[in-house]
Amino acid sequence: MGQLIKLTGIVLSASNVGEYDKRVVILTKERGKITAFARGARKMGSPFLAACQSFAYGFFTIFSGKNYNINAVEIEQYFPELKEDMNKLYRALYFCEMADYYTVEGNDELAIMQLLYVTLVALQKGVVGDELIQVVYEIKMLAYFGLMMETSRCAVCSRDRVETADAAPFLTHFCSARGGVVCKSCAKQLPNTYTILESTLYTLQYILSQPVTKLYHFKVTSEVLKELKRVSKDYQKTHVNHAFKALSFLEF
Ligand SMILES: [Zn+2]
Repeated sequence: MGQLIKLTGIVLSASNVGEYDKRVVILTKERGKITAFARGARKMGSPFLAACQSFAYGFFTIFSGKNYNINAVEIEQYFPELKEDMNKLYRALYFCEMADYYTVEGNDELAIMQLLYVTLVALQKGVVGDELIQVVYEIKMLAYFGLMMETSRCAVCSRDRVETADAAPFLTHFCSARGGVVCKSCAKQLPNTYTILESTLYTLQYILSQPVTKLYHFKVTSEVLKELKRVSKDYQKTHVNHAFKALSFLEF
């Protein structure tokens, strides 16, 4: 027997099914990622039409039987400003696509749902730059997925410092293939490493150690942003190598 359940969630994507219906992928607090059907959503005047859009956040009353069928919707936040700026729109769609890619139906995905929500709010408010928001989101998302980069000690020799007379920085390079930062002497023996600034290292440590509510409260210099973008892109390419559709609109 089916039952009515009330879920809090964010719409990740929606597609047309049959003549009038929509199939919606929702990342929910209570049941992780689900696929639900909105019957008649494409009929004129359907209350589901507005709710079946990417990044609509709210409460979904769903009949849970053989499938999930949306029964009623109460949207709290449509993020309207994100739809007025093409760069913000494609970035938000990319964030949803990424959240979809890194989650599995039936898993507890609360951390990823909170990360996505906080990120969409930050993108809408525009307090920090969109490119910074994107790299922070990518690095944190990969960590939640289980691909956390090593930033507190050398990914090769495991040391976090050496006792020397001078106070020169120790973790000076990044190596995606080895999973994170490496020290100068290990870097000499590895291909495909590159130097990172000390402030880039601190920023990576901050992103990975802070809760999602504190992620978008800092700014960085253009040099650090450039390095963060390189690290994030290179790390993803090495460990995931998936081409996200929405990203192609941002990068041309
Ligand atoms: Zn080392």
